[in-house]
Amino acid sequence: MTTYKNLINGEWVDGAAGETTGSINPANADDNVGNVQKSTKEDLDKAVQAAKQAQKEWQKIGGPARGNILHKAADALEKRVDEVAEMMTREMGKTFPEAKGETMRGVAILRYYAGEGMRKVGDVIPSTDKDALMFTTRAPLGVVGVITPWNFPVAIPIWKMAPALAYGNAVVLKPASEAAVTAAKVVECLEEAGFPAGVLNFVTGSGSVIGQGLADHPDVAGITFTGSDTVGKQVGQSALARGGKYQLEMGGKNPVIVAKDADLDLAVDATISGGLKSTGQKCTATSRVIVAEEIYDEFKEKLLDKVKDISVGDGMKEGIWMGPCSSEGQLNTVLSYIEKGKSEGAELVYGGSRVTEDGLDKGFFVQPTVFDGVTTDMAIAQEEIFGPVLALMKTSSMEDAIKLANDVEFGLSASIFTTNIQNMLSFIDDMEAGLVRVNAESAGVELQAPFGGMKKSSSHSREQGEAAIEFFTSIKTVFVKG
Ligand code: NAP
Ligand code: MG
Repeated sequence: MTTYKNLINGEWVDGAAGETTGSINPANADDNVGNVQKSTKEDLDKAVQAAKQAQKEWQKIGGPARGNILHKAADALEKRVDEVAEMMTREMGKTFPEAKGETMRGVAILRYYAGEGMRKVGDVIPSTDKDALMFTTRAPLGVVGVITPWNFPVAIPIWKMAPALAYGNAVVLKPASEAAVTAAKVVECLEEAGFPAGVLNFVTGSGSVIGQGLADHPDVAGITFTGSDTVGKQVGQSALARGGKYQLEMGGKNPVIVAKDADLDLAVDATISGGLKSTGQKCTATSRVIVAEEIYDEFKEKLLDKVKDISVGDGMKEGIWMGPCSSEGQLNTVLSYIEKGKSEGAELVYGGSRVTEDGLDKGFFVQPTVFDGVTTDMAIAQEEIFGPVLALMKTSSMEDAIKLANDVEFGLSASIFTTNIQNMLSFIDDMEAGLVRVNAESAGVELQAPFGGMKKSSSHSREQGEAAIEFFTSIKTVFVKG
């Protein structure tokens, strides 16, 4: 059994307390995939101090030189793509092809931000003084704390760390405990690229100690967090209280609208892919399916036909389409929402149970699940389940469909299937979501475009693409008089 260490000031080191915790395979709880350090505040403090020390020099070497190291990091990760993806599947359950796709996404993100090192960081603005030069430039924040969830254990740490590093910040990563081994492998690849000691630090441990410790730390200038709504709020409040900059990406309750003029086969495939891939554990997963009454029965029949064919099992096995929930806790949450759905009067039309047959009893498997007759006041229509559960809702007009789609506290992603241009335009205008998709599933995201939510889904900043510079730097307005 491998024990993974913290990376502090360029050295792989044990935590000060000398304690470790195991991370298990949700497809087989007997399989411990590796141990990680159970770190303390002392470890965190060392990492933050190392980052603080290293950051100034890192800032000074300039964007192109930083970009070169990010290019090498991309190559190092690409070389180990199968190994990293296999660990991801074993540690959090998504199927190997999905894990490999995510890891290659990580490689592409590193290459994107390597290129950012060469792009412009400011503008020249005409001054009213004809003898002066006025322009903007960008300064890094300093030390950035990165707190990440388990559902995209490669892509999310990378889409936060790559821009942070490219723009001259030093980083301390605190990964989700349930995917800390995968994160350690990512950090190993990055470390191979030759970042100066202290620029990139990695500290595992509990959210309440290391995550909260980062949020509270006076030397951490910026905190970028992705995770649940409850923890996010707490992290934001802690950072705000000490004047730190923060960025929060949180939950979703994403709808798909299927109009009466939709291509139904396309809509069915996208609903299944958007709602059930990764076992529904994407922040952008489709969970509410709002369907026009004229085509409701036909859509439902086509959907159920295909859902019945989904193969559930260990994501490392060929032919498996849906892996387990990422943990026993997550499985229990999903099962409790299914019970809630039934008791609130929704009709369970497919699935709803744990899967234990054919040797799956040691894992946290659940059937893909479909509810019919869901109304907007029900918990399964309002709260993020983070599991493979679709809630079907019938609607009588496009206006009503969009109203229903907006009738939640979240606003991350939304999609519509329609061939009618007026429907498309109303949806684009009226949908309260940061990602609005027409004839495409709710869960697709491109790394070169801004990503983030409205309403309770986000602290209203954006990640990825060109948008990342807004969080990871501060604008400096410069006025020079000769
Ligand atoms: P979580 O429980 O909120 O954990 C997220 C991270 O915060 C983990 O690293 C966790 O560490 C840490 N943490 C826990 N308690 C903390 C505290 N008191 N202070 C600081 N950090 C703390 O979320 P999750 O269950 O890992 O992830 C699922 C959630 O992420 C879902 O709600 C999903 O919608 C959301 N998500 C959002 C996006 C987006 O971009 N909008 C993307 C993906 C996922 P431990 O693991 O050690 O507890
Ligand atoms: Mg695990």
